[in-house]
Amino acid sequence: SAEDKEMILRQKKGMVKKSGLVELIDTPEKLDSIGGLDDLKQYLKAKSSIFHHLSDALNFGVSMPKGVFLVGMPGCGKSLCAKAAASIFEVPLLKLDMGSMMGKYVGQSEENLRKAIKIAEAAAPCILWIDEIEKAFSGVGGQSDAVVARMFGNFLYWMQEKSSPVYVIATANNAESLPPELKRKGRFDEIFCVNLPTKEERKKIFEVHINKLIGRECIEDSATFDFEKLSSVTSGFNGADIESVICQTVEDCFLND
Ligand code: ATP
Repeated sequence: SAEDKEMILRQKKGMVKKSGLVELIDTPEKLDSIGGLDDLKQYLKAKSSIFHHLSDALNFGVSMPKGVFLVGMPGCGKSLCAKAAASIFEVPLLKLDMGSMMGKYVGQSEENLRKAIKIAEAAAPCILWIDEIEKAFSGVGGQSDAVVARMFGNFLYWMQEKSSPVYVIATANNAESLPPELKRKGRFDEIFCVNLPTKEERKKIFEVHINKLIGRECIEDSATFDFEKLSSVTSGFNGADIESVICQTVEDCFLND
């Protein structure tokens, strides 16, 4: 029942918190918190349907969803998508910080990564969000040290062989320095480029953030906003810039009230 589901989710959250290797993110973000990025939202929606009917899908012959790799400019909604995905998948969101995996003793880093993966598998179905993956794995295969290379090898092997419902969302600002083995099919199901929003997308991002103000009863409605003009004069802005314009405007209104 819905109550059981909630109880299981609470138990999983407790278990993850205790481990200290992965962080549990509680987030209210939903798909409609994202302006634009329609293809990616559609894609995540389809994957969530598979997650919701996993045994039927697997019996039908659908492969276990592995994950998605989101690459692009900072502030354009990659993290937001990972959070919204957890809401529509209705599973816990575990954030893995590759930097915190590194230990000072021989073999400790590899062991930390192995443990973190084990925790994610025990918490499955869940989403494992690996933020800024390029910080951990860029340069592997070149001058990188042996520990990172081994961790990379273990991670690739797990991604390739994984049969548990741990959906991996990796985010990166720049994928160029990442080894090609990570980007080829078989590891992630798909790679999406999340770049600066188009004019139409900026309009939608303004709408999302102005609707949030309406939700908080800061303003009554959006009738006085000229979304066409707002999106025209914000060419080159990312989602975070647009959010900041709105926050600044609210602050100015408060100070000049
Ligand atoms: P980074 O690579 O620096 O981590 P990011 O791409 O993960 O950046 P987010 O953290 O998702 O960016 O976005 C920062 C903030 O900007 C979000 O919390 C959100 O409020 C706003 N934002 C960004 N993109 C969008 C969008 N498409 N729709 C609505 N809000 C957005």
